[in-house]
Amino acid sequence: MPYTEKDKILMNVQKPTRYTGGELNSVKKDKNAVDCRFGFCFPDVYEIAMSNLGMKILYHVLNERPDTYCERVFAPWVDMEAEMRKRGMKLFALETGDEVTDFDILGFTLGYELSYSNVLNMLDLAGIPLLEKDRDENFPIICGGGLCAYNAEPIAEIFDFFMLGEGEESICQITEEYIKWKKDGKKCKKDYLRAIARLDGIYVPSFYDVEYNDDNTIKSITPNEECAKPKIRKTIMKDFDKAYAPETLIVPFGEVVHDRVMLEVFRGCIRGCRFCEAGYAYRPKRERSEKKLSYLADKLLCASGYDEISLSSLSTSDYSQLPELTDNLLKITEEKKIGLSLPSLRIDNFSLELMDKVQKVRKSGITFAPEAGTQRMRDVINKNITEEDVLASSKMLFEGGWTNVKLYFMIGLPSETEDDILGIADLSQKVLGEYFSIPKEKRAKNINITTSTSSFVPKPFTAFQWAKQDSRADIVKKQDILKKAITQKQIRYIWHDNKTSYLEGVFARGDRRLLPAIAEAVKNGCKFDSWDEQFKFDEWLKAFKKCGIDADWYLRERSYDEILPWEHIDIGITKEFFVRENEKAKRAQTTPNCSEKCSGCGMKSFGAGVCCE
Ligand code: SF4
Repeated sequence: MPYTEKDKILMNVQKPTRYTGGELNSVKKDKNAVDCRFGFCFPDVYEIAMSNLGMKILYHVLNERPDTYCERVFAPWVDMEAEMRKRGMKLFALETGDEVTDFDILGFTLGYELSYSNVLNMLDLAGIPLLEKDRDENFPIICGGGLCAYNAEPIAEIFDFFMLGEGEESICQITEEYIKWKKDGKKCKKDYLRAIARLDGIYVPSFYDVEYNDDNTIKSITPNEECAKPKIRKTIMKDFDKAYAPETLIVPFGEVVHDRVMLEVFRGCIRGCRFCEAGYAYRPKRERSEKKLSYLADKLLCASGYDEISLSSLSTSDYSQLPELTDNLLKITEEKKIGLSLPSLRIDNFSLELMDKVQKVRKSGITFAPEAGTQRMRDVINKNITEEDVLASSKMLFEGGWTNVKLYFMIGLPSETEDDILGIADLSQKVLGEYFSIPKEKRAKNINITTSTSSFVPKPFTAFQWAKQDSRADIVKKQDILKKAITQKQIRYIWHDNKTSYLEGVFARGDRRLLPAIAEAVKNGCKFDSWDEQFKFDEWLKAFKKCGIDADWYLRERSYDEILPWEHIDIGITKEFFVRENEKAKRAQTTPNCSEKCSGCGMKSFGAGVCCE
């Protein structure tokens, strides 16, 4: 068989299997025998995309429908893109290799703000007009979902619609409506958008007009179509145990970020950390039964041949049946010589017995996230862990033979002082002190503590959504304080680049006026912004300047009565609750977690999970 154009390109690029498709359990269907071709687009490279839990679920949800064929479409790495552009090759899907313009719907996952440039670049590579208003019925419908969809206003004018919340049901509903519209002759795109705007969780940006005040703040966000609701409420899978869970998974070619079976033990979080968008946005916490999880583990291991399984959630140790589940999983894993990992454990309900069970042989590193160095600051952010928790867990670990501990903190948090920064160094040193307090003959050698800081970025739908984000200069000063304060050779300090946090902050609370700057930056080569080696901060600054945008303005403190760009989106938590939480933060007062006491966040209206227990 002669080489195709794509084959020739693949000989010139790194990791060609990123682009071939054909992996074990990828779906092959007759594309001519379906009513809807859906491109599941992930705006990052194969290794990241293939680790995305949403993709793993929705790909199979759609492909179980006889009327739909869902294929994967990922961002080609820069070498591949250069080859494609040189030869005039368009963005293609992995399963059939067809250009994405042949598809009916393209659905983008928006998991992090720094992937926005890749969305624009992928559409450009596909030859699809960027703006929704420039695309008629002959182009694929472009939709988006994922955490950033709750405020994707900076790129909203690109999208025909967003799916807000959990997509297992709504992705089927919008597909069914599409098929109806297609069979009806696809006369006018607006007819389709009007039909789906009535569904729960569907936000059609073009059905809302945004007006601005003279001081640049938002004056109003107004529906301009009768079908457009004043507030669009997210959707959730109320009974998570009965929610669709795939019994198979694609086994990627080459190594990917999460190269293992991932078992989603629950959705949501009970904790209420005041900075955490995911924690609030995925509320309420809903669990999958231990019985169902053990069943799924067995199925997924058999289907994939993986030798590792990992429990996935925002805070694994909050799973109410964790001991039973790990005991059952260990029966499967020990028999089949499969590794079990438990990420996202909390310090305060951490159990050495559990860790010993799952890491019998290899005592790999453990990450704890105290998030802040002083008790005052941990109370401000509602972390609800104490220094004693951190030190007791560390000592337990050191006594159990662990010597690699990573401590994760944030700097730039609201009301932070120099004492709070120095508290990070102090706590790291106290953890080291716990190691040395154990007699030499009873502790393992080569202690290694990594203290890592990232810069706080205020996010929508959090108690800190009104907060000022520290300037880059402030962050550098704080990092310098820590560099000087951490002197022990056993503690390594690593910090996150403040330039990417800056851009993330601009987009996270940004509005529709940012799009021209994003388009300008992409035109000048910005893409893969979350990859250090690709990030071109100077180009971003130039783009903001050229488009007359004061990006710093987006990092300012907001007042409670300012209309926020996401004011028309309803995640189920009331504004009153967030105001209450922000005021409590100012007084360093904590709020109990949902299992201890309901704090009346508003989510009860969904009638699901922990709110009804
Ligand atoms: S309504 Fe109460 S229990 Fe439910 S998520 Fe909110 S605070 Fe937690």
